[in-house]
Amino acid sequence: MDVIGHLINGRRSTEATRTQVVFNPAIGEVTKEVSIAPKETVEEAIAAAQAAYTEWRDTPAMKRARIMYRFKALLEEHSDRICELIGAEHGKICHDAAGELQRGIENVEYACGAPELLKGEHTKNVGPNIDAWSEFQPLGVVAGITPFNFPAMVPLWMFPMAIVCGNTFVLKPSERDPSSTMFIAELLHEAGLPAGVFNVVNGDKVAVDTLLEDKRVKAVSFVGSTPIAEYIYSTAAANGKRCQALGGAKNHAIVMPDADMDNVVNQLLGAAFGSSGERCMALSVAVAVGQRAGDELIEKMKAAMESLKVGECSDKTNDFGPLITKEHKDKVVGYINSAEEQGAAVIVDGRNPTVPGYENGYFVGATLIDNVTKDMTSYEEEIFGPVLQVVRVDTMEEAMQLINDHEYGNGTCIFTRDGEAARYFSDKIEVGMVGINVPLPVPVSYHSFGGWKRSLFGDLHAYGPDAVRFYTKRKTITQRWPSAGVREGKTFSFPS
Ligand code: NAD
Repeated sequence: MDVIGHLINGRRSTEATRTQVVFNPAIGEVTKEVSIAPKETVEEAIAAAQAAYTEWRDTPAMKRARIMYRFKALLEEHSDRICELIGAEHGKICHDAAGELQRGIENVEYACGAPELLKGEHTKNVGPNIDAWSEFQPLGVVAGITPFNFPAMVPLWMFPMAIVCGNTFVLKPSERDPSSTMFIAELLHEAGLPAGVFNVVNGDKVAVDTLLEDKRVKAVSFVGSTPIAEYIYSTAAANGKRCQALGGAKNHAIVMPDADMDNVVNQLLGAAFGSSGERCMALSVAVAVGQRAGDELIEKMKAAMESLKVGECSDKTNDFGPLITKEHKDKVVGYINSAEEQGAAVIVDGRNPTVPGYENGYFVGATLIDNVTKDMTSYEEEIFGPVLQVVRVDTMEEAMQLINDHEYGNGTCIFTRDGEAARYFSDKIEVGMVGINVPLPVPVSYHSFGGWKRSLFGDLHAYGPDAVRFYTKRKTITQRWPSAGVREGKTFSFPS
């Protein structure tokens, strides 16, 4: 069986002391193993990144960017292979994988603008014959720790920007679906990246803790679940590192009585069930304002959901694939059970889907639950499955209060024809990414991505302009070249 190893100092290496199995979730079988790096292997990767830093730091930004141009072309050339690898280990449908990759490539395109993005600030004559400027210097070795649900896109949120800013990088991808990430790392080397600038170690908590504690690592970008994000942020801070840790979500859509309900239903189908709901931006709660909107939403959703098709990744007629593991499937089914036990009504039940030929896959069909209330476990926690819950309220204020009271604040959306209501909503809602008739308001690569509250620990968001600030530190220089013969006397106070 193939063992997926590491990529350290430009070379593949296999660590066989400890391995973990990798499944194809559509068939429910082990297809590969992945090396689980011990502390020494992670330290080797950090040492390689540290050694490469001195030269990489002084490589002109334009030259760094040229490698990214070649990398982008290689990602496009090998996109089918990358999507196949994503499908085989994550299970997402090929066109969904292609969408993920495209979003990732857009981050590489943004990184190609490094020379422009890294331009500093300059002021001539801040005082007599005195000039001042700020420049943005790299941090050194930085680390990324990424989740299973976007094995291509989320790493691409991080390392292209970190690297063009002059840092060297150690990535610890998810151990559940590492192959596409490894393949992408090889393409970056094929594009001409010097050895040691980008290293990938596969592993678990041991690898993560080594990255968090090692003094040579200056900053950590993390994306994953909230309990781990909180742990990463506090441990990184305790070790004196800069950290951005993006966590879980519970994204609500408010459905106003004036919304175009056919459009709402179309939008909600993809946003709730796409990628089996395994997206941090999945819309998992619809808050219907008023009895009529709630009844109409349930009726139309129920009818539309009949045509949804769950299945294997290569079949383009499927709408979404399996969940990542058997344990995760059981957890999602557990949430549906708990909602039912706590008094909600399961309108469309995906607990036992039929997927001919894939009976052992970790499939859950699209599920619609009505009359969910805020005290239910399935409402309080992130389900991360193809489950849409409907909460009914009487007013928009009540709907907004629900969202503002929730511990997560990643994404949200309002469906309405009323511009005034939409404007009020976007201004007052306590959520980082807001859609107005846009169900998945994922910012494009030249904005930045991040939630509020317990969906993000740290200050700066991922990718885009915030990434330039996250992966650099500002240095401000004030300079005077005294003219010949002009010498100033002693001064003991600021000039006034
Ligand atoms: P996860 O938190 O289980 O794992 C994320 C990473 O942390 C992995 O690399 C994993 O190996 C590592 N990890 C896991 N347990 C650890 C521990 N105890 N100590 C140290 N490291 C540990 O998340 P996941 O299941 O891979 O991904 C799904 C979660 O990620 C969901 O909650 C989803 O909302 C979230 N997510 C958030 C965003 C965002 O942008 N906010 C994007 C994608 C996914």
